[in-house]
Amino acid sequence: MHYDDTIEESQHYLRLALTFLGKYSLPTDPLNYCVWYEYSSGRNEDLNAAIDACLGSEAAFSKDAIRSLFDLHIAGSEEKVSKLVREKLKKLFIEVIGAVQTTNQHFSESETNLEAINDTLKPSLSEADIEKIVNQIKSEINKLKSSSTSFKERLKQATSEIDRLKARITRYRKEARLDPLTGIANRRGFEKRLIQTIDDANTNGFTLCAIMADIDHFKRVNDTHGHTVGDNVIRMVAATIKDTIKGKDLAARIGGEEFAILLPDTPIEGATILAEKMRLTFEQLDLKKKNTGERLGKITLSFGVTSYKTGESADSFMNRADQALYQSKKTGRNKVTGL
Ligand code: GH3
Ligand code: MG
Ligand code: MG
Repeated sequence: MHYDDTIEESQHYLRLALTFLGKYSLPTDPLNYCVWYEYSSGRNEDLNAAIDACLGSEAAFSKDAIRSLFDLHIAGSEEKVSKLVREKLKKLFIEVIGAVQTTNQHFSESETNLEAINDTLKPSLSEADIEKIVNQIKSEINKLKSSSTSFKERLKQATSEIDRLKARITRYRKEARLDPLTGIANRRGFEKRLIQTIDDANTNGFTLCAIMADIDHFKRVNDTHGHTVGDNVIRMVAATIKDTIKGKDLAARIGGEEFAILLPDTPIEGATILAEKMRLTFEQLDLKKKNTGERLGKITLSFGVTSYKTGESADSFMNRADQALYQSKKTGRNKVTGL
């Protein structure tokens, strides 16, 4: 039994208890005090109902009757409360253990402490014991909360680090396939796509063509106007080629002033028309220096066109495109040759 009545309350209940003892001519022994004190406080509904039911019958307050009232409604209820609290604590304990397991971390210290608490959940617990255990459990929960918060925080940090890393890898991969001067694909990017497209063409049987292009007498451009102007010409050529193609087509700068264009799903006639269109576009350009407006003179390109033969290697395919380009160079430049 545990009472936390104030002195005033306890004096009041004691006075009432003594009044009842006098009224029913009962001996002033501790058991009677206890039962009538409890009755006077009105806190024990079951006891009060049992006593109220017996009021008027003096035999009801015999020594044995008082003993059984005490056993049933005071000692018994204490046991009931204690059992209830123990069950609640056990439930709470199981929940905490469950939470520990689901956070998937090593809360070994907390687990050990909680197991120790579980061991103390014995049938005979005083209210002070229960309070102590509740406080211990609360403290363990708080410890778990803070460690799971920092664990979550670490997880969040790790996740965003991984995301940043992934983005960097993607950027590096993309950069590795791009030509920094023109922004179109470089040789590596072209070869990668070439292998994939050849695979696709062999599987799906579509016609695949390639165009190789090279700026005619480019050395002269550099020699006459300087390397920076040469660079700008290369940029202009790349942009013009890129503007002429569309969809799945890919343009790449595969050498200094050399370009390759991959045209999936395009017959040789179409590829030749496209190359001729480009050739004409360059031929008709009247290029001037950006700052001085000085004329650069004609910039022309030579082209080689070929179509992929089912089953052949990428090298054999591109060598033929190169030979076609060589033919254009050999036979006067500013030309398109198909092979
Ligand atoms: P051809 O008509 O036979 O192709 O003659 P060409 O002068 O264009 O051929 P060649 O291969 O002899 O020379 C290509 C020149 O392109 C050599 C080099 O100085 C220049 N070049 C290569 N890469 C770059 C570059 O990135 N920028 C500049 N400005 N020039 C480059
Ligand atoms: Mg050249
Ligand atoms: Mg060249």
